[in-house]
Amino acid sequence: MTSSDTVPGHKRPIDREALRRKYAEERDKRLRADGNAQYLQMSGRFARYLDDPYLPVVPRAPKTDHVTFAFIGGGFAGLVTGARLVEAGVRDVRIIEKAGDFGGTWYWNRYPGAQCDTASMVYMPLLEETGHRPTEKYAHAPEILAHCQRIGRHYGLYDNALFHTQVEDLSWDAANRRWNIRTNRGDAFTAQFIGLGTGPLHVPKLPGIPGIDSFAGHAFHTSRWDYAYTGGDPLGAPMTKLADKRVGIIGTGATAVQCVPHLAKTAKELYVFQRTPSSVDVRANAPIDPQWFASIATPGWQQRWLENFTANQAGGNATEDLVQDGWTDLARRIRERILTIPKGERTREAMLAAFEEADHEKMEEIRSRVDSIVGDGETARKLKAWYRQLCKRPCFHDTYLQAFNQPNVHLVDTDGKGVERITPNGAVVAGVEVPLDCLIYASGFEVGTEYRRRSGFDLVGRDGHRLSDHWKGGMRTKHGMHVHGFPNAFIVQPTQGANLISNVPHNLVEAGRTIAVIVRAALDRGAREVEVTREAEDAWVELMLTAAGRMTGGADCTPGYYNNEGQDTGLAGRLAVGYPAGASAYFTYIDGWRRSGAFEGLAFDGRAASGRPADVVGAGPAAADDAPVGYEPVQLGG
Ligand code: NDP
Repeated sequence: MTSSDTVPGHKRPIDREALRRKYAEERDKRLRADGNAQYLQMSGRFARYLDDPYLPVVPRAPKTDHVTFAFIGGGFAGLVTGARLVEAGVRDVRIIEKAGDFGGTWYWNRYPGAQCDTASMVYMPLLEETGHRPTEKYAHAPEILAHCQRIGRHYGLYDNALFHTQVEDLSWDAANRRWNIRTNRGDAFTAQFIGLGTGPLHVPKLPGIPGIDSFAGHAFHTSRWDYAYTGGDPLGAPMTKLADKRVGIIGTGATAVQCVPHLAKTAKELYVFQRTPSSVDVRANAPIDPQWFASIATPGWQQRWLENFTANQAGGNATEDLVQDGWTDLARRIRERILTIPKGERTREAMLAAFEEADHEKMEEIRSRVDSIVGDGETARKLKAWYRQLCKRPCFHDTYLQAFNQPNVHLVDTDGKGVERITPNGAVVAGVEVPLDCLIYASGFEVGTEYRRRSGFDLVGRDGHRLSDHWKGGMRTKHGMHVHGFPNAFIVQPTQGANLISNVPHNLVEAGRTIAVIVRAALDRGAREVEVTREAEDAWVELMLTAAGRMTGGADCTPGYYNNEGQDTGLAGRLAVGYPAGASAYFTYIDGWRRSGAFEGLAFDGRAASGRPADVVGAGPAAADDAPVGYEPVQLGG
């Protein structure tokens, strides 16, 4: 490989060494000792930022009954698990949700322009079951929220749900072999089984900027959009009340990329405070043609699409690409590069080099795109992202960069330093105060902080054993779902399972299936308890540690939540991984595990299920020669 290459379709040669140096320089500029601690929790004087602006809290009597299954979290995880349980004949499923309705992230995130970044056909769960045809390749937030409500209605999940309710205590009652659940609404009920689907990105955070509480104008976080102040609505009505306002937005991640073009349309002046530019690739959204949809929506269509997307992304040998978007484009490029390496020479190093080449090309294209759209040279220069594409969440948008051509839109680049200070009047960068009437925090969500802090409770299992203690040295599970010492409890999230980050709902849909099969089996056997054995959990953790590591997204990246703000997480980081052979292989494995009916690794009422562990676990990580050649390099952390 040469260190200088020409990008196909581009005249400019890539000086790979210079690019590596530039990436390292930009990363170093942004590394800070306080890592995650730089952010402020929304408690105490910042607690008001968490208030629900969308629905009032409805008074109700506390619950003191018993249900078969209680699920904490009413987002996709709770909905798909509830749906599969209902299909399996478990009717008394109670979902407990801190928001006023189902939807999870789609309940809270109603900012203008919000839409899914992964194609609706694979992102929106249970489309086939509920008979919904997405209206767009990337559906907007109101349609996704309505779909969550549709799932709730379709499966009767509203009947038993508790909204605006936060679990405060979840503990195993060994004498009665059930879970005790207490909430902030005075509920004290029991459940034979529990599921936890509290989501990886549901606790908003504020930037730790000095003076943040001194601002005298109006301020809110993007996940609690204040339409009463801005005017407009989530469906896209113009925010007319901003016509005489100087609006500042702090942050330029995936959220800001989607809402900036909308703010630009109506704000008198819009100041976009940037610490690190996002990579913004083509979106190419389009309506979904009903006739085309009818032609492809034959029985089993969504499962085929899910498997195809995952096979393109993460280690399958897909020959066709049904979704065809920015996610699969990079994966395809990487795979094509790797396949040019003769099989016998396909070492990890050779594959990483091919990956880097494909990444460099992609990022050069994304940087050229900025030049081709943004008129002002200096603004264009500042909007270019200098890191590998998967160091930060890739963004896709067709009008974000264009917004910077408007005379009322001002990029306030902080050269990696962040906003210096907030005053009663506005925000200060490089000693200059920008006067503002309104300040919007597009500063993201807590990732990588302690599970207990993000969920608001600790799980107390057998003998008073706490989940926070069990996971002190890093996450320990089987399948990312079962934890020894915590019977009848199921955790629904991607880590230590498929860990497919480019389409999180696929992980959840599969987890819902698995839980329904296990609960059905326990009920049919009359078993009161089902629990992973210590040996099975240990073996799974050992298997996770054989993962080859990230292809990118590690310490060499510019800091962000993908790499724990650039700080080493040691063993915990090495455990925040997925099935070593890749997501496609995991989904095949777990399908076999479920179908075998052996429940390898689980014990029902203390008796280990008779299984064929060696057969079921399979060959473990693939050898270098036929290692997965997709790319799913980042981990969200437990
Ligand atoms: P992010 O964490 O991605 O972005 C936060 C932003 O705030 C960053 O640009 C960060 O800069 C900036 N910031 C933090 N502190 C300061 C400071 N002191 N001064 C200036 N800027 C600061 O949050 P988002 O809400 O944008 O996105 C979070 C995640 O939510 C996404 O990555 C994605 O997974 C998900 N999401 C999904 C969407 C979808 O699927 N449609 C849409 C939107 C979000 P820096 O980069 O330097 O840290």
